[in-house]
Amino acid sequence: MKKLFRCKYLAHGLYIHYDCFRHCHLSIHSPKERNNNFIIPYKGPKDKADWDLIFDIKHKLVNDMRYGDIPPFCSGCHWIEEFDEADAEKFSSDFDNYIDMIWIGHSNECNANCIYCFSYLEILEHRTYKPYNIFPLFKEMLDKKIYNLSKEPEAHISFAMGEPVILKKFDDIIKLFAKYGNKHIALYTNGIKFSKMASKLLAQKGVNLNIVISLDAGSKSVFKQVKKVDKFKDVCKNIKNYAASAAKDNPKALGVKYIIIPNINDNKEEIDKWFDICVNNLGVKYLIADVEEKWFVNHNGNVPDYVKDLLRYIRQRCLDNSIDFEFYDRALVLHL
Ligand code: SF4
Repeated sequence: MKKLFRCKYLAHGLYIHYDCFRHCHLSIHSPKERNNNFIIPYKGPKDKADWDLIFDIKHKLVNDMRYGDIPPFCSGCHWIEEFDEADAEKFSSDFDNYIDMIWIGHSNECNANCIYCFSYLEILEHRTYKPYNIFPLFKEMLDKKIYNLSKEPEAHISFAMGEPVILKKFDDIIKLFAKYGNKHIALYTNGIKFSKMASKLLAQKGVNLNIVISLDAGSKSVFKQVKKVDKFKDVCKNIKNYAASAAKDNPKALGVKYIIIPNINDNKEEIDKWFDICVNNLGVKYLIADVEEKWFVNHNGNVPDYVKDLLRYIRQRCLDNSIDFEFYDRALVLHL
């Protein structure tokens, strides 16, 4: 049986970047091709988003991928799925015109300076660029059903650049999507600023807001080395408050991450402190582990055994303590 290929994000994903739309926020396996992950230029509400053109571009790439002509920016990506030609009908909606995954990445403003931030180079390149008001674009997408919740009730949005909670329209954005019945909102925040609105939605049945905070340390000193700001206590306090809200309905709605950064936090002592604070002091019920992306890319994904052992160690501690656990992108593709 002939094998075909697809990616749900190539078909229906939209990454809103500072000055353009892309298909996804990923391309982690093809860092040099990242800039070719491009749909159309878009610099804010003054530009009209040409949806017909956007879907024409998507259809061509979806069709190319289907028959084995993988776009270079997708090369090696773990989101590519293989399927039998006989099942092609099942995926006919890959050619339908709607978006069901939005990554919000139009702003890189942040209140921390994490050493691993993948916005860092972009910040240097775009430091004079003023982020625009994204609210009218979302309103248009929801009203015109470009972001189509009736077609895809599992559609979701994710904040993918900068610190979302400090966006001027942050509350309005999450309220707007919640009002339209959006069930999945992923909020990646550094946790330095607490959002009452996010905390309220965390506790609200049917909204499915998920917050992920990368703490990466179990001590003030290592935290400061990673984030370059002295905010360990504030972040812990905010994690505790979010955990209390999540506990009311869905404890897994709050995840706390440990990104292993070689030569900074790559030891069991720091991991143990992180684990104990999260689980015993802050009430966190869901932990996540990953490997630092820039390091991973620079080493062509060759992760040394001791780092793999640390990842397995985190997983084992979670299993032993009945804590939900997940590996994220780099750790996930290691198949530990
Ligand atoms: S295959 Fe990977 S890089 Fe390509 S569109 Fe899908 S998620 Fe993005």
